[in-house]
Amino acid sequence: MSIFPCVGVSHKLVVKVARPGIWNRRQIMKIKPLIIVLIALGFSSAVYSQANDNMLCVGKYWTEEEAKVMMDSFAKEWSDVDSWKKRADQIRAGIIKGMQLEKMPTIKGHFNPVVTGKQQLDGYRVENIILESFPGFYITGNLYIPTQKKGKFAAILNPHGHGEGQRFREETQIRDAMLARMGAIVFTYDMIGTGESLQTTHKMPIALLLQTWNSKRVLEYLLSRPDVDSNRIGMTGYSGGGTQTFILSAIDDRIKVSVPVTQVSAHFFGGCMCESGMPIHRTSDFQTNNVEIAALFAPKPMLIVSDGKDWTSNTPQVEFPYIQKVYAAYHADEKVKNAHFPTEGHDYGYSKRLDAYRFFAQYFRLDTKDATQDGYDETAVTILPIEKLLVYTEKYQLPKNSLQGDEAVMNYLGIRN
Ligand code: ZN
Repeated sequence: MSIFPCVGVSHKLVVKVARPGIWNRRQIMKIKPLIIVLIALGFSSAVYSQANDNMLCVGKYWTEEEAKVMMDSFAKEWSDVDSWKKRADQIRAGIIKGMQLEKMPTIKGHFNPVVTGKQQLDGYRVENIILESFPGFYITGNLYIPTQKKGKFAAILNPHGHGEGQRFREETQIRDAMLARMGAIVFTYDMIGTGESLQTTHKMPIALLLQTWNSKRVLEYLLSRPDVDSNRIGMTGYSGGGTQTFILSAIDDRIKVSVPVTQVSAHFFGGCMCESGMPIHRTSDFQTNNVEIAALFAPKPMLIVSDGKDWTSNTPQVEFPYIQKVYAAYHADEKVKNAHFPTEGHDYGYSKRLDAYRFFAQYFRLDTKDATQDGYDETAVTILPIEKLLVYTEKYQLPKNSLQGDEAVMNYLGIRN
C-alpha cells in the first residue's frame, strides 16, 4: 500500500491548493507543516503534489521535525525483508527514471584511457588519466595504484565534494594515497564543470545524470582492469561526493562496500543540481529521501559518517536507526556502522578517514602496516602540487572531437530536464 492513498481528502483543501496561481510560494510554505502531517496520516498525495508544481526536493526541503514525521510514515510502509524489498525496488526504479539513466547510450568498454603523467611515490604511484565517458565527453582524474603488492587489488571510487580544485586538495590526496598504500586502486575524478572537466558547467540541467553516468563509467573501467578484483569494489566521498556515493551504491550492485560521509540526511536533500536537480525523490504518488536511498545498499557493508555541525547532526537518533532497521530485516545488523563526530564539522578530516580506513581494511582485507596504536600514520604520503596532477598538458589537450557546452552535450544525448 502506498503511504499516500487517495482517501479522506478534504475537497475544500484540494481545490484551494490545486490553484497555484492563487497560492503563492509563501502561502504554500505556511501550510506545508499541515500538508506533511496529512501525508503522514495517510491523506491524499494529491494535496501535496498539487501544492508543489514540480517533483524536485531541493536542499532543506523539510524541517528536521517534518523529516521525523515523514521517516515515521516511511517506516509504516514495510515490516519485513519482503515488504522492504518491494519498497526498495520502487525507490530504485524512481531514481533511474527520475535521472533518465535509461536514455543514456549503450556503451560497453570503449574507455580509451590515456595516461598523460605518472609519479612514483612511497608505496604507490599516481597516474593522471582521461577516460571517454561517451563519444566526445571525457572524465578527468587521478589513479592511485599500489606498488608494493602483486596480484589483484581492491578498487575504490573516490568522488569529491563541491568547491573548485577539490580533486587536488590535500585531504583528497591523503585519502587516495593511504588507501593505495593499503592495497586498493583508487580513482578520484572531477565533478563535471570543476577541475579539468570543463566541457559543461557544473549546474547544468542534467548534472545529476552526467555525474552518475561518469561514476558508472569509472566503475566499469576499474572492473575492466586485469589487476582489479571485482569482488572488492568500494566507493567513498564526502558532501557532494557522499551524494554520488550513496546514489551509485543504491543502483549498481557491483559496489560492494560503501562509505558515504557527512551527507545522508533525513531532511536535507542536497542543494545542488547534481544532487537534487532531477526528480529522483518523489513522483505524484510516491515520496522517499536520501536515508532510504542509502538504505538500498543493505545488506552489504556500509559505514555512514556524520558530524554535529551540519545536516547529519541527528544521525544517531534519526537516520541511522532507520537504516539499522533495514539491515536488521536482512539479519545483517553488524554490516552497517555509524561513525558520528558530534564536535566536528562538514569535512573528511583525519578522524573520519580513520574510520573509513578501518572499515575498508576489514572488508577488503587491506594492508594495515600504517596503522598505529591509536590511528593511522599518514606521513608517508607526498602531497603533490596541482600541476603534477593535471591530465591536460602542453603535449596533451582535450581531443578535437569533444563536445563543448551544456547545450551541445544535451543535444548529443537527446536528454533534457
Ligand atoms: Zn553539484
